[in-house]
Amino acid sequence: MQHFPIFMAVAGRRVVVSGGGECALAKLRLLLKTEAHVTVIADRAIPAVERLSAQRRIVLHRRAMEPGDAMCAALFYAANDDAAEDARVARLAHADGALVNVVDNLADSQFITPAIVDRDPVTVAIGTEGAAPVLARAIKADLEARLPATLGPLARIGKAFRKAADALPMGRRRRDFWGDYYFADGPRAMDAGGADAVPAALDALLDRHLSARRGTGRVAFVGAGPGDPELLTLKARRALDSADVVIHDRLVTPAILELARREALLVDAGKEGFGTSMPQAEIDAAIVAHAGRGAHVVRLKSGDPTVFGRLDEEIDACDAAGIEWSIVPGITAASAAVAGIGQSLTKRGRNASVRMLTGHDMRGFADHDWRALAQPGEVAAIYMGKRAARFVQGRLLMHGADPATPVTVIENASRPDQRILPTTIARLEPTLTEAALTGPALMFLGLAPRGALAAAQTMDKEIAL
Ligand code: SAH
Repeated sequence: MQHFPIFMAVAGRRVVVSGGGECALAKLRLLLKTEAHVTVIADRAIPAVERLSAQRRIVLHRRAMEPGDAMCAALFYAANDDAAEDARVARLAHADGALVNVVDNLADSQFITPAIVDRDPVTVAIGTEGAAPVLARAIKADLEARLPATLGPLARIGKAFRKAADALPMGRRRRDFWGDYYFADGPRAMDAGGADAVPAALDALLDRHLSARRGTGRVAFVGAGPGDPELLTLKARRALDSADVVIHDRLVTPAILELARREALLVDAGKEGFGTSMPQAEIDAAIVAHAGRGAHVVRLKSGDPTVFGRLDEEIDACDAAGIEWSIVPGITAASAAVAGIGQSLTKRGRNASVRMLTGHDMRGFADHDWRALAQPGEVAAIYMGKRAARFVQGRLLMHGADPATPVTVIENASRPDQRILPTTIARLEPTLTEAALTGPALMFLGLAPRGALAAAQTMDKEIAL
């Protein structure tokens, strides 16, 4: 380690920046998070720097740096975007006894500024000794996403509550309490009523944890999205992070299961769309049994749990067993698929409503309002439609749909092996059978991929695929 990380006390002390351009402004943005007195010395300043001066957030001297300007300064930044001027001002600042940083010049800097995640009083500093700024930015982005924005004020309030929380036995139960505070009850109270609402929420949370004899279990019905791990919500990631048990459908991809807490028990409920390999009653029983033993259960469903997810049966089972549950929404396959073809689900002048249909229901091919669906301009997202394609095609034509109406099938939406099959009602079968799909597929009635739209309208039906 060539640089030793420390947190420097700068409140009330002078920090001097030489330079008034973008490069200086970037440093000022960081420095103004502190309680330091910031002085800028620059013969020319961009309007954003002038504004800071007008707001009295900095003291601006509109001239070139002179000896003595960095006197009594804790830190000095040479940020002129000009190597010769930076070298000159750095020499002056050295002579004044300040610690010097020359922006973008590691060799001539006595200290470097880390990437910062600011949840004051919690501050995370990330440094790579200048080796990999891209990496530092990526780590910062990751942490920014993982740490709730309200963490800072929550930490300040939580600190005053530490004594009270000692009433809980050390270890798991106390950890669970603080985990709930920082990532669930605290942010919720803050959202609902601001910082003033937090102490009461802390009291209530502590009561709840004290009265729970063993750790009480709970269930989160979590949307895993269409398969791309980057399409998980932050809430979903957090739930996976703290799960004791993850009960997942077959459609949930390995890359997402990878994100579950290392110690979590993974249970494959094996349900894929209509086909069931673990009977629903058994899934319900597994959820209730694990939560009943005190586990945090994540019931991970592909897409959004509220869309063709058999969610209600599982909620009823939790309610019947008196188990606390919550829903974390996810990106449904239709959203991912429509993004994949560059279209909108709704469009002014084309369709003001969109339907979500299932090709199958418990009785077999699902019946729908085919007459309405056959109208021009209708848009429908058909889930679980692979095997029902011929049935859907027949019903639509029977009810007078234009055979040239576009239909687009998106297989493996959002995944590396995503495939888009643009076709029409007339060609839907045999197109689908010939394509020999192996992954989950969503069918859009009334939408063609953008760009291909014009082509499809003039294309010979024989080559519509
Ligand atoms: N709750 C899920 C839907 C479950 S039903 C959601 O909101 O997306 C399962 C059906 O969803 C599949 O048969 C398929 O039609 C669709 N599906 C799920 N993931 C998909 C994907 N990545 N690409 C295309 N279709 C998908």
